[in-house]
Amino acid sequence: MSRRPRKRWGVRLLVTAVLAAGLYLGADRFLTHPDTPLPENWNPTEPLNVAARQNPMTLWKLRNAARGRNTCLAALETGAIFQTIPDTEDSAQCHIRNSVRLRKVAGASLRATDTRCDLALKMAMWVEHGVQPAAEKHFGMPVRAIRTQGSYNCRPIFGTQRMSTHAQAKAIDVAGFTLASGRQIELLKHWDGTPEEKAFLRAVRDAACDWFSTTLGPDFNRAHADHFHLQSEGWGTCR
Ligand SMILES: [Zn+2]
Repeated sequence: MSRRPRKRWGVRLLVTAVLAAGLYLGADRFLTHPDTPLPENWNPTEPLNVAARQNPMTLWKLRNAARGRNTCLAALETGAIFQTIPDTEDSAQCHIRNSVRLRKVAGASLRATDTRCDLALKMAMWVEHGVQPAAEKHFGMPVRAIRTQGSYNCRPIFGTQRMSTHAQAKAIDVAGFTLASGRQIELLKHWDGTPEEKAFLRAVRDAACDWFSTTLGPDFNRAHADHFHLQSEGWGTCR
């Protein structure tokens, strides 16, 4: 599944106008002046806010935030409940760096999960901008919990010698969702469930591809029949 084409002409015009104004006033002053007319979520010097409306600056801000520990934690605070924990260094191949213990993202709680800050931040963006809108659309209510199967796991990819991205907590597995009413939506049971269950699960899979570099689910292979594998690096596989 590739990215959906979007109507971008209006956005391009706006970006051009903003850049032209910036050049005219002097980019620095324009961006950092307390009275800058540029809204916070368009201003590249303002940190990422998970809940802010998406725009063409969003992915740029996300990449920037993910680069440093402090910038990542500052961004994560805007859309998640977590604590910082010491890094785990089990071996050269197995570690969690920039560690956080994640408990809640964008209103949905999860079993406390130790992972990297940048992965947690992508998870928060996915739940805020993908999962919650899809739940509202298909079920008329938000998701209150996400069932994860963990992030850090020092192991090779099943059936190979290569280490899994889980060995460095660069992926998280998601098996299902609990709606506000308590209704459970599980990949294994509902991937081929009712029309709205099917539509919801495919919508959240497709939305994951907007935030994660690799997204694998039931359409990829049988090993992923019961969970989405959401990975912060890779070559753009989205199935
Ligand atoms: Zn996985």
